[in-house]
Amino acid sequence: MSSTDFSELLSELALADQLRVRRLVDGAQGASMVVDGQRVMSYASNDYLGLAAHPKVVEAAMRALRKFGLGAAASHAVSGHMRAHHALEEQLAGFVGLPKALLFSSGYAANLGILTALAGRGDVIFADKWNHACLNDGALLSNAAFKRYAHGDLKKLAALLEATNTQGRKLIVTDAVFSMDGDVADVPALLALAGQHDALLVLDDAHGFGVLGYRGRGVLEHSNIDLKAHAHRIVYMATLGKAMGGYGAFVAGAADTVEWILQSARSYLFTTATPPAIAAAMGASLEILQNERERLTHLRALIDFFPDSFKPRHAKLPYSMTAIQPVIVGSNANALAISEALMARHLFVPAIRPPTVPAGTARLRVSITAEHSADDLLDLATALQELELVHARPGA
Ligand SMILES: *Cc1c(COP(=O)(O)O)cnc(C)c1O
Repeated sequence: MSSTDFSELLSELALADQLRVRRLVDGAQGASMVVDGQRVMSYASNDYLGLAAHPKVVEAAMRALRKFGLGAAASHAVSGHMRAHHALEEQLAGFVGLPKALLFSSGYAANLGILTALAGRGDVIFADKWNHACLNDGALLSNAAFKRYAHGDLKKLAALLEATNTQGRKLIVTDAVFSMDGDVADVPALLALAGQHDALLVLDDAHGFGVLGYRGRGVLEHSNIDLKAHAHRIVYMATLGKAMGGYGAFVAGAADTVEWILQSARSYLFTTATPPAIAAAMGASLEILQNERERLTHLRALIDFFPDSFKPRHAKLPYSMTAIQPVIVGSNANALAISEALMARHLFVPAIRPPTVPAGTARLRVSITAEHSADDLLDLATALQELELVHARPGA
């Protein structure tokens, strides 16, 4: 094959039903939005609190644009660290209840930076097999030994820790909420293992921050972790592109740990700082989360309601207490066919296929937001029920 020829690779993807097709969105994000020219009810976004186009968030960005201009013009370490970034870091640290927070431009950049800063040759990273792709990329880039355990199998993790004899640092790395199943990691048990084996616990709470916990502070609040006692062992990372409705990410933890990440994470040091207006807008999102708790309570009520509203015959609906509600239908073709048929009914639910999820577990990934109503979910449940009978019969 010629170096310049990609047609064969692309046809292979197409044949395996793995070609990704981008749908085009007109107007703003929201539960109701215009996708490929048609108005649909969307269950496809991570904007769990409905903040992506919230007037107060947009207004905060506009005010900051006028005050700070658009670009940060340099990396944080040179001259790009502006008042809006600094204020947001202090706000985030206070909100999650950890001593120090550091803003990254994206979750992907944060995970690459955190893992390469904390681990290197001679160190060992222990990771759940269902972790997000960017945690795996960060682990590989770090050059640390990389040991993966089956999803949620803490016995296996304990055995791996037991069998590891290293002078180096040990990191247990996990999604706090698994992004394709919506299940929550057992943080107290992970923390206990980390304590027993003198490991750091790195938590990626992209889907828990703003959703889990009484005040939406995420998985640490949800799991009732005593932060005073454990802050030195926890490296907490969350993104701002999901429930916060914007863009960016942060890491929070003990002051020295976070300072070390600031000093050594290449994806922090060698990239332009986030536009300050985005940081200001994310501060506004955080205030809405604190002042309009009804958004969170409404979202929680919908999360409880959805499994009750939908009685699948062939599909599997694993338990999830988060906004991510997977409907597992098995084959790629079934998932695609149901997703297409839902779209014809103006319901946008993406089909998620391998390699994003394990082979044979292709699914519809329903994500619920505070902008949906119980009636919306009933409409979706009815449509899903009708379509899964048509498409997901065993052997069909
Ligand atoms: C979305 C996501 C990321 C990446 O965050 P971005 O800000 O979108 O780069 C990282 N980890 C998990 C678990 C995610 O779901």
